[in-house]
Amino acid sequence: CGIVGYAGPRAENPSSRPVDVALQGLARLEYRGYDSAGVAVIDGDDVRVTKRAGKLANLREVLEGAADTSGQVSIAHTRWATHGGPTDVNAHPHLGGREGELAVVHNGIIENFASLRAELEQDGFSFTSETDSEAAAHLVAREMEQSGDLTEAMRRAAASLEGAFTLLAVHRGAPDTVVAARRNSPLVVGLGEGENFLGSDVAAFVDSTKEALEIGQDQVVTVTANSVAIIDFDGTEVTDAKRFTIEWDAVA
Ligand code: GLU
Repeated sequence: CGIVGYAGPRAENPSSRPVDVALQGLARLEYRGYDSAGVAVIDGDDVRVTKRAGKLANLREVLEGAADTSGQVSIAHTRWATHGGPTDVNAHPHLGGREGELAVVHNGIIENFASLRAELEQDGFSFTSETDSEAAAHLVAREMEQSGDLTEAMRRAAASLEGAFTLLAVHRGAPDTVVAARRNSPLVVGLGEGENFLGSDVAAFVDSTKEALEIGQDQVVTVTANSVAIIDFDGTEVTDAKRFTIEWDAVA
């Protein structure tokens, strides 16, 4: 339903770590409605996922009790369930990979998830949720095993997914990077100073920046604190992404 991503240096500021930036974005997306919420950060060699059914307050409560997280990137999600009930396990982010080396958030519906899941299970990937989204998580992880490059892994995975998706992924092998793809579902990038944001709509980052880039149909974007690079699903570089300024005074 709602998606937030962040890449930046905020770890040194305890009140605005990547996890806090993600939560702030999720709060801005609450107006869309949701049944669950969750966040993932890369903390050292760990992909740390925290997610809960119910209100954002439930998630906040768990995070407040948790050990301090550092790291440079975060991805977060508010879910409106389509495949699998609104439970903690079905909430996003979903871990992917044989060792949970990656996390994914997904908006939309992956129509060919059942055949992908069967094939990935055959290949030794174990599923824990009933969602369509988890198939995408393992698919990107498997492509990462093969290519070793997160952008290429997302490109190959996205090209073989059918349906509607905005997909964000973080991987412990690329701890400063968030990679995202979209088809039939919206994605915008927020351009900050030494930090960058991703969102399913501009509300996700409007508190932090008013400068944004629209990501086009069937494109992959790779974001770090200081770079934004876009390619299409064929691997061709995209240089004409539409840049715009958000005309919106955020309500305090
Ligand atoms: N189809 C996915 C699920 O049911 C994503 C739903 C959404 O867009 O929030 O988990």
